[in-house]
Amino acid sequence: MTKVYFIGAGPGDPELLTIKGKKIIDQADIIIYAGSLVNKEILKDHKKDAQIYNSAEMTLEEITGIMLKERENDCLIARVHTGDPSIYGAIKEQIDFLHQHGIPYQVIPGVSSFTAAAAILEAEYTLPSVSQTVICTRIEGRTKVPAEEKLSALAKHQSSMAIFLSIGLIDQVIQELLTAYQEDTPCAVVYKASWPDQKILKGKLNQIVQQVKENQISKHALLLVGRFLDTKYEKSKLYDKNFSHGTRKSR
Ligand code: SAH
Repeated sequence: MTKVYFIGAGPGDPELLTIKGKKIIDQADIIIYAGSLVNKEILKDHKKDAQIYNSAEMTLEEITGIMLKERENDCLIARVHTGDPSIYGAIKEQIDFLHQHGIPYQVIPGVSSFTAAAAILEAEYTLPSVSQTVICTRIEGRTKVPAEEKLSALAKHQSSMAIFLSIGLIDQVIQELLTAYQEDTPCAVVYKASWPDQKILKGKLNQIVQQVKENQISKHALLLVGRFLDTKYEKSKLYDKNFSHGTRKSR
């Protein structure tokens, strides 16, 4: 029986792919990868006769059509998504199709671009006394966003935010954020995190639009917002010498 693996390709750097994901890609008979942001380098050790498809040029029916056609052929299919497939990966509709047709599948997680971006900025989203919450979200585009999740509503929480799929509408994004965040709230734009042409812009909410426009960034970027990008915070309880927990007594 054919089996489909949904694999998180990571943000771009081929070494940020899991060992499990790499093993499956290298053994796969069929590879269907999201061409816009999956680095083709991660496919370089594919089997000689593997069939390779770029899903950026395909419809859902074409993708699931391949999976169904191969159902009885004992194929290994690697369906490769950018970052981690659980975030804006559109895997659920594929999973439901496979489930409905009795085709086995498994999901292999990946490094999401929002964690890769934090690593590049050497930042921690969950700083004590600053924010203990990270909001991953996007502005409404052709995909609708529930009314309770409008950026202006989420901004009221003053949490750390990672905003996906929105850099092309940066004016509107910042306008909505400024209804709740202060103008001098630190923010950063990370374009193509971990790729050779990665770009980082750091600024304040009231300056970032201009920086984004000057650098002509209109896609493949994350906007990170929040005081976690500042330096003031309290040290964690986890390593506090006056604090006991499951694996260490206070001293
Ligand atoms: N599943 C992916 C997100 C897919 S949605 C993940 O976990 O990262 C595509 C959006 O993700 C892009 O518009 C951009 O906002 C962000 N993105 C994906 N890869 C990126 C990268 N390498 N650098 C910056 N942003 C990235």
